[in-house]
Amino acid sequence: MKIISSKYTYINGEYKKDVAVAFNTKIVKIAPLNDLQAKFPNAQLIKYPNNSVLYPGFINPHVHLEFSANKATLKYGNFMSWLYSVIENRNTLVSNLSEDLIKEKCNEMLKSGVTTFGAISSFGAELEVCANLKQRVIFFNEVIGSNPAAIDTLFADFKNRLNESIELKSETLIPAIAIHSPYSVHPFLIREVLNIAKSQKLITTAHFLESQAEREWLESSSGDFLEFFKNFSNTTQAVTTIEEFLNAFKNIPTLFTHTVQVKESEIETINKNGHSTIHCPRSNRLLGCGRAPIEYIDRVLLGTDGLSSNYSLNILEEMRSALNMHFQADLNKLAPRLIEAVTTTASNALNLKIGKIEPEYWADFAIFTLPDDLKYEEKGSLALHTIINCESADSVYIGGEELRIKS
Ligand SMILES: [Zn+2]
Repeated sequence: MKIISSKYTYINGEYKKDVAVAFNTKIVKIAPLNDLQAKFPNAQLIKYPNNSVLYPGFINPHVHLEFSANKATLKYGNFMSWLYSVIENRNTLVSNLSEDLIKEKCNEMLKSGVTTFGAISSFGAELEVCANLKQRVIFFNEVIGSNPAAIDTLFADFKNRLNESIELKSETLIPAIAIHSPYSVHPFLIREVLNIAKSQKLITTAHFLESQAEREWLESSSGDFLEFFKNFSNTTQAVTTIEEFLNAFKNIPTLFTHTVQVKESEIETINKNGHSTIHCPRSNRLLGCGRAPIEYIDRVLLGTDGLSSNYSLNILEEMRSALNMHFQADLNKLAPRLIEAVTTTASNALNLKIGKIEPEYWADFAIFTLPDDLKYEEKGSLALHTIINCESADSVYIGGEELRIKS
């Protein structure tokens, strides 16, 4: 048994003072330090200095490790130009990927306090590395393909990859399902894959309404995607509509990534059906997609997206960007919401025993230290100062084990 003690402990959206946490691989009890020491006299005490804040380990639910080799290769500023540049450079970027590079990028996440991340995988190439990491990985096997003639092959390939990840399932590797997007996956494939998600109770995610071009294509089979689909699939018709797509997920609470170009009625459906949004502000900005209307969305998580549309996987940096991007929001309300996005909200959406400091949850922690005394302990100020003043976590625990943060 170990006891961790810090000045503030983040519990249920509040910063509690004068409590400590007793844990093995999971959290056992939360109480004042003296009480815990009396109850567990042989426990090892880990005391963090003044100004320290103990958070549950942060969750970054959306990253594409396959594109970790990108820095200045891809074209930014416009979604379609970016997409063409991805197609042109995909093979080079994937061939420049190495195990060391993936580990380096996972370590960057870890340094920023991320103990669990969601990896969107289209080939399965990073499965082995993810299975051997100390971090928890929700391994999203992605299905993509709208050409009816190729559906059987694509579905078989998807099932193979899913089964490979299920074989490696562990406390730190959680097999899951990703549907690429409404414009790129045939409704038949969506239905079949969702049947698997439902019967095997797998976490499900999908990119949704990222760009204006996507919206136009789904609404009227027009816009910038028309040329794209003529060239690549010899088709001039979208395979589904926005409504049809959302309907397919009616009984499966899903993590929709982006939801930038989303209308009021669609937000209503997302909220009503228990779906969540993974907000990726830097990716949206870099690809010229706009700003997700997170003020109207009930459940908002925060993701870095991959290095194909970002310059780092640092979740603190993502929070800082969100603070600046949503400049009309009340700062002292937005900051706590962003901390919730990477902890409580993510925990609820994923339905895993992570992201909260609560008995029976995994002892996954991220400890941060503010540079000096917080003079004004007002609502929102601790969240804000964590986001703007902390460059990295001091320490990170996963399953009760402290991991060294290498710089
Ligand atoms: Zn993505």
